[in-house]
Amino acid sequence: MRDAAVRQLQHLAVERQTDFPLLGTASVTYALYAQVHCDGEMAPEKLRGMTETIETTHSFKPKFSGEGLIPTVVTDHRSGDVLMFAYMNQMALNETIASGIAHFWSRSRGKLWKKGDESGNLLKVIELRTDCDQDVLWITAEVQGNGVACHTGERSCFYRRVVKPDGTDAAALEFAPLPAPKTPTA
Ligand SMILES: [Zn+2]
Repeated sequence: MRDAAVRQLQHLAVERQTDFPLLGTASVTYALYAQVHCDGEMAPEKLRGMTETIETTHSFKPKFSGEGLIPTVVTDHRSGDVLMFAYMNQMALNETIASGIAHFWSRSRGKLWKKGDESGNLLKVIELRTDCDQDVLWITAEVQGNGVACHTGERSCFYRRVVKPDGTDAAALEFAPLPAPKTPTA
């Protein structure tokens, strides 16, 4: 493409960028170039599709592993603390979205697992996010019942930290349960 044509398209891209809030100027320029090059017609919807990637799309396309699983981290909606980590399969994800309560796939039991179904400590989904390449999920949750997310009775599964005790080379674990989040004062 000749320089003058590139400049013209870059200028146009800046003007048109508000049409494509998720795209950078370079992407819009490229989209316009590709479109002009293809059939000389610029249709916004077509442009959006031409540069759409898994990172910019509005389509939810979770990427499951070969075993049909997607890793999912759960954090506390008030404190931001990491509460637990588990895997979902398509069924668990569907149930989670439909019910607003976190469901996972239990690899050890080989079945759908509604977290907290027995203890009453259900995980109410406040927000469900996915990452740039859509291969990890992140649930921000409100723990129901007594607010405990781990089956051991700890609030978070991550109640131990890895330390290197003085005078040793080997890493060891130290119990350091997360403190309970402060209740907001009215
Ligand atoms: Zn746990």
